[in-house]
Amino acid sequence: MNPNGKKIVIIGGGIAGLCAAVYAQKCGYQVEVLEMHDMAGGLAMSWRRGAYTFETCLHWFFGSDPKGAMHALWSELFDLEKLTFVDLVEFGRLETEDGDVLAIPTDVDRLEQELLARAPQDAKQIRRLASAIRRLRGFKMPDPSKSWVGNAPTLLRDLPVLPLLRSLSRITARDYAQRFTDPLLRAFFAGGEMGGLSAIALILSLAWMGSGNAKYVTGGAQAIIRPIEEQLVRLGGRVRFGAKVDRILIESGVENDAAVGVQLAGGETIKADWVISAADGHATIYELLGGKYVDAIIDNIYKTLELFPSYLQVSLGVALDLRDQPATTTLMLKSPLQVDPDTGLSQVSFRIFHFDPAFAPAGKTAVTCFLPTRNFAYWAQLRADHPEKYRAEKHRVAEAVIDVLEKRIPGVRAVVEVVDVATPASIFRYTGNWKGSMEGWLPTPRTGFKPLPTTLPGLRKFMMVGQWTIPGGGLPSGPMTARPAVKAICKEDHVAFTPR
Ligand SMILES: Cc1cc2nc3c(=O)[nH]c(=O)nc-3n(C[C@H](O)[C@H](O)[C@H](O)COP(=O)(O)OP(=O)(O)OC[C@H]3O[C@@H](n4cnc5c(N)ncnc54)[C@H](O)[C@@H]3O)c2cc1C
Repeated sequence: MNPNGKKIVIIGGGIAGLCAAVYAQKCGYQVEVLEMHDMAGGLAMSWRRGAYTFETCLHWFFGSDPKGAMHALWSELFDLEKLTFVDLVEFGRLETEDGDVLAIPTDVDRLEQELLARAPQDAKQIRRLASAIRRLRGFKMPDPSKSWVGNAPTLLRDLPVLPLLRSLSRITARDYAQRFTDPLLRAFFAGGEMGGLSAIALILSLAWMGSGNAKYVTGGAQAIIRPIEEQLVRLGGRVRFGAKVDRILIESGVENDAAVGVQLAGGETIKADWVISAADGHATIYELLGGKYVDAIIDNIYKTLELFPSYLQVSLGVALDLRDQPATTTLMLKSPLQVDPDTGLSQVSFRIFHFDPAFAPAGKTAVTCFLPTRNFAYWAQLRADHPEKYRAEKHRVAEAVIDVLEKRIPGVRAVVEVVDVATPASIFRYTGNWKGSMEGWLPTPRTGFKPLPTTLPGLRKFMMVGQWTIPGGGLPSGPMTARPAVKAICKEDHVAFTPR
């Protein structure tokens, strides 16, 4: 790496900000990441309460297969050899209160057999599902940092599955669910709050989990964040914590303006040759830049695309070894769990982290319950205006969740020794994500996975990366958006792009 004398400031130390920082530092830029929180990770986060660590993000890490293209991309950023992967045997399971259970094994042969045994009336659709999963196992995403020509070998290889891909991209998971008559199979695909998701997203996840390319990582998302942060520091980059950016500084030009640095909440200004925002997209465009650099395309994105919901997470420290329980279970409830005035859930998902020894002492288990809601305003207002009621509501929801778990695992209530509740207001406070969204834009039949604009009209020396620039978000959106952004910056500066 040869220092090129230019400086980049990066707003946000989530996965995308860190990936952009490592790439830029490798290309000779002096990088400073400004993170408002006191640690890196953003949504890729876990927190410690007593003897327990509660994970919020990681279900699967796409790129765990050493032969896969995504693995190669991650390898440019950190040493994956040091990760401990866990191959989960089930994607999840659905259970009714009457004891009916639908397990979704990650192994496609087992999945097919078990579904056929359970729902022979849906045999035709089950076989089509299993065939789709098998055919999509080797599908490679085009590399967004390459042109169509650069992606030609990948596209040629993927050619036979493109019609399948196209047809599954055009249908929502909710509509795909209608192909089955079995009620639990339907419920699995209908996806509750996320039924608008394009069916391909769910089927690709099943394909990648089944082929060992989407395993869990011991230690959760922070086990991925930390080595990238360490790599950045080794390369000479810097992450500054407690540094909230309030404004992007602009120099006016004749044709276009240019970003020239940032102003922090305390008033300090930091000058730079480039500004990359890896923070929330809406706040970046409409607050840090005052909404000055928008056109109809950008406005249309932020006015009309569907977001991933926000969520409450009830985390429980359970003084019991729950190894005999499934890792992920969605319980179908006869009477809905009322999360907030607008949200009653008839299905709630639990993760029982017995498969991650980093999260609880021996003989104890960290358990989390995910409760999606789109009522961000309610939780934000309650926290701001009625702190006591906010606390009481958190307590009420936690009690309701423990009641549900108690029905499923009798006696568990008595051994719950830690209770923690995060609300959409917490998600916003710690990550700044618009409406507390868990993952940015929902990939729908309308959006596909096509990247969104990463530059803004009329503004030079500025780029956006991260989950707000590619529908579907997820950890892979870090390297997948950071790499092309830094490559474009290098090109404009006539600097060699040296990612390895
Ligand atoms: C419940 C849940 C489950 C998930 N499961 C998975 C999974 O299994 N696999 C997977 O790959 N992905 C998963 N994801 C998605 C994944 O966590 C996110 O898509 C990804 O972490 C987003 O990274 P990012 O860097 O784009 O944004 P963020 O993580 O939001 O990072 C943005 C950063 O910018 C900082 N920031 C914001 N504003 C400012 C400012 N003004 N000044 C300074 N700093 C600022 C924030 O503090 C934050 O650190 C899950 C997410 C959730 C919530």
